[in-house]
Amino acid sequence: MSYLPIKQLLKAATGVDSPVGSTATVKGWVRTKRESKNAVFIALNDGSTIQNIQAVAEAGQLPEVTLKLITTGSCLSITGQIVESQGSGQAIEIKIAEVVIYGTADPEKYPLQPKRHSLEFLREIAHLRPRTNTFSAILRIRHALAFAIHKYFNDHGFFYLNTPIITASDAEGAGEMFRVTTLDAIKPPLTEDGKVDYSQDFFGRETNLTVSGQLEGELGAMALGKIYTFGPTFRAENSNTTRHLAEFWMIEPEMAFYELEDNMNLAEDFVKTVIRYAIQHCADDLAFLDNRLKEEDKTKKKEEQSELGLLEKLQFVINNEFVRLTYTEAIEILISSKPAKKGQFQFEVKWGIDLQSEHERYLVEKHFKKPVILTNYPRAIKAFYMKQDHEPATSPRGEVFGPTVRAMDVLFPGIGEIIGGSQREEDLDKLVARMQEVGIEPEAIWWYLDTRRFGTAPHAGFGLGFERLVLFVTGMGNIRDVIPFPRAPKTAEF
Ligand code: ATP
Ligand code: MN
Repeated sequence: MSYLPIKQLLKAATGVDSPVGSTATVKGWVRTKRESKNAVFIALNDGSTIQNIQAVAEAGQLPEVTLKLITTGSCLSITGQIVESQGSGQAIEIKIAEVVIYGTADPEKYPLQPKRHSLEFLREIAHLRPRTNTFSAILRIRHALAFAIHKYFNDHGFFYLNTPIITASDAEGAGEMFRVTTLDAIKPPLTEDGKVDYSQDFFGRETNLTVSGQLEGELGAMALGKIYTFGPTFRAENSNTTRHLAEFWMIEPEMAFYELEDNMNLAEDFVKTVIRYAIQHCADDLAFLDNRLKEEDKTKKKEEQSELGLLEKLQFVINNEFVRLTYTEAIEILISSKPAKKGQFQFEVKWGIDLQSEHERYLVEKHFKKPVILTNYPRAIKAFYMKQDHEPATSPRGEVFGPTVRAMDVLFPGIGEIIGGSQREEDLDKLVARMQEVGIEPEAIWWYLDTRRFGTAPHAGFGLGFERLVLFVTGMGNIRDVIPFPRAPKTAEF
């Protein structure tokens, strides 16, 4: 089994213990095979890095039958001497002494050939697309970001809490839910009034897949101080957008004794730190994606081209402070903006609206040209658990608007909302009153309210959609391209 990952081999090539002269075995999948008069060149990739190793055989060295089976996509084990490369583009190569073919890939049938495939086509072969440079780069970056997230929280004294995936509470109201049931689909048991009798279901009640681990996360924070969740999250929202998945991964830190300001500071430091980690640890993959984006930009109209390259954009985010302003201030800016005056927004701007992505993008991409944190949203458009502000919002002209809550949304260029969070209402009476106003039965989440009954404390937290972060860091345009097997309306093949 002993073999050297290509990443390790290529890294050593430039170091003091250069492998040149030694014999090594490499294993991987053929990217390309090229034959010249004197030699055969095989570019082999094992997924450890975006770089291939070039394997070289002399013309006539390999039997014709063997050579024929070495095609793009086939899997090989190659043993040979590591030598300095004669060609440009790589420092070392391997001189083939022995080849073992593990698996062939009939070129008539193997869908990945060495040419540019569209992302739409690659989505149809999601089981094979990790073998492309683009997707292997994305998946390595995704891994690095996941690792950086755990590292960040561990370094900062947070505990990783696993909240349930199957839940009985639909109180969060974050989105439509997927039901979990073992009842007969055709003839479920019914109650006397003709409804499905969930008391006969597996859990003895109606259950769903979680839309957020926050409520349980709060229970953790009220015992461990600082916790975070990082798990699968499900929303049956029938929105076919480039920013929504039906199954995605969410990171939800929750901190006792944090107020809104602390929450914002944490969110900003956290995203910057994990992006910095990716820049430091995924240099090759990011350079590849940066270049890919530049090539793609060349095919676009001038006004649609990005102002910054991918790497420049990432540097820009980690080197600049996020702009912080209230929802009310943002509304003022939007009302007096050019697109509002020219009637170019599809949705009218006025205090109280839920900001649409066109508004968020104007603020981030046109007005501030920086990531933005918006706070103190109207109470009516946010979840019941957010801490209520004392005073209603007022305009600079003294107009009095409605009540607000200590919410915060972090908006990113090209992405829109990447983080949604808030300080939580820790006062039992206010919380219960608000639940009754919006029609949530307090008894249904008696356990959640117990945190306010026993040893309540100020606390805050937020949710970061992992795929939206990966989308931003990789510069991809569609969220379905940053998760190995996307789940979206009518999409669950693999
Ligand atoms: P949006 O308005 O973009 O649908 P949301 O307000 O529903 O987002 P929250 O309920 O606050 O989002 O969830 C927290 C975070 O989870 C969001 O900031 C986003 O990064 C991510 N997120 C939410 N819904 C999805 C989804 N369907 N697919 C991928 N990520 C999502
Ligand atoms: Mn949503």
